[in-house]
Amino acid sequence: MNAISLPFDNSYATLPERFFVRQAPVPVQAPSLIRLNRQLCALLGLDADALATQNGADIFAGNTVPDGADPLSMAYAGHQFGGWVPQLGDGRATLLGEIIGTDGIRRDIQLKGSGRTHFSRGGDGRAAVGPVLREFIVSEAMHALGVPTTRALAAVTTGEEIIRDGYMPGAVLTRVAQSHIRVGTFQYFAAREDVDGLKTLADYVIARHYPEATAAENPYRAMLSEVVKRQATLVSKWFGLGFIHGVMNTDNTSVIGETIDYGPCAFMDTYHPTTVFSSIDYMSRYAFSNQPSILQWNLAQLAQSLLPLINTDMESAVSVAQAEIDAYPQVFEKALTSEFRLKLGLATSHDDDLSLAMDLLECMAENEADFTNTFQYLADMIATDADDSDIRAQFSDPKSFDQWVTRWKTRLANETRSFDECATAMRQKNPAVIPRNHLVEAAIRAAEDTGNFNVFNNLMDEVLDPFRLRASDSHYVTPPAPDEIVHQTFCGT
Ligand code: AMP
Ligand code: MG
Repeated sequence: MNAISLPFDNSYATLPERFFVRQAPVPVQAPSLIRLNRQLCALLGLDADALATQNGADIFAGNTVPDGADPLSMAYAGHQFGGWVPQLGDGRATLLGEIIGTDGIRRDIQLKGSGRTHFSRGGDGRAAVGPVLREFIVSEAMHALGVPTTRALAAVTTGEEIIRDGYMPGAVLTRVAQSHIRVGTFQYFAAREDVDGLKTLADYVIARHYPEATAAENPYRAMLSEVVKRQATLVSKWFGLGFIHGVMNTDNTSVIGETIDYGPCAFMDTYHPTTVFSSIDYMSRYAFSNQPSILQWNLAQLAQSLLPLINTDMESAVSVAQAEIDAYPQVFEKALTSEFRLKLGLATSHDDDLSLAMDLLECMAENEADFTNTFQYLADMIATDADDSDIRAQFSDPKSFDQWVTRWKTRLANETRSFDECATAMRQKNPAVIPRNHLVEAAIRAAEDTGNFNVFNNLMDEVLDPFRLRASDSHYVTPPAPDEIVHQTFCGT
């Protein structure tokens, strides 16, 4: 008997049967709540007090399927590290259904780590506590940083051990997304030459996410064009935070421009454009600075999939799709430029703003500067009570940095705002706290080794408040000591 009711209003489940496989989550031994996201409960119109109970934990573990849920696993395909996989699908996830929030937005409620499904292939359908905590921390940090992302509603332990690198405690993450439709979902139908399925999917995506495209001369082209824009904006935001997704496969690329599928992801401490963390990215395909071009490749796969809808005449379809993909570099550059203008305290536009920003990044790379702290210290440098000792310490070669600062200050002098106002604006844009890798690892270690979730909860409190200034020696803004540096991150799936 479970008295908690959730106001499900499911639409994906009404699509044709071949879009998914209906299946309930597989129950676990002993669900126990790790954390509930009360702020997200409020947005979804859910009763957080009721969900913070054992009954709630039972729902988040998949042991109780609440009334109105219509559990299913979604079908999709994708290119993984450039190689085509005709069928992936939710191998360890269950879409319970959708809930329309107090903001009127429809969102998916999905359990990740909920047991084997039709799509599990050789996998166990489970998730270990480490990756669940990492996704919880990083996705909620991204949200607090203003980056479109899937959210974390709850995490539970299962009371079961799963086999990864040895035995690990199992966990389930309740993930909330504006939808879980991926480039790979379109590829799934396109590869099967299932044009009816493709059209049904595209019409569904347009109705749910891009209603303005309905009025366009060619709605499918309009949708593609919007996906290009949203994804370009998303990756420019990652760029502005030093974030590396790590597994930018087409099945991990959302068609609504949310960051999705946090695996071996990480924020850089020391800036270098070629940084890779993921232990499975042998070829450095998804290195930090490759992300914009990889995105273009992924978008080209979407464009290719949409060809039969764009025009029945293949030649015309190709030229339209090509035009959208060719427009991407400019769309991305525009998004990146506005991102870095804000980071550098600029409210007006000048032609060489992007090169100003990129020259700073080059100087940071040469000097092994800390990505996050550099922008904090640049703000300190131009504030009324100017203090340039911290920023100087980031640049061992002061010559190139000094030249850059002279250019930046000349540029700032063209702004209508005072330097101090620019510094204030910079502090609203540049976070003091990001979930640094060594802090995430420490939170995971404590949970895995001793079942202690305090380190995780304390880190959550910090990352949810990223723009508040911290003392410069605060644990949460200090880069890792040499022996704390995390060189590799693991999927752990
Ligand atoms: P991801 O790395 O999360 O993007 O997953 C890639 C594919 O592998 C998806 O189809 C997942 O559903 C599947 N997968 C990942 N981990 C597991 C697991 N433990 N059991 C079954 N399928 C999995
Ligand atoms: Mg995935």
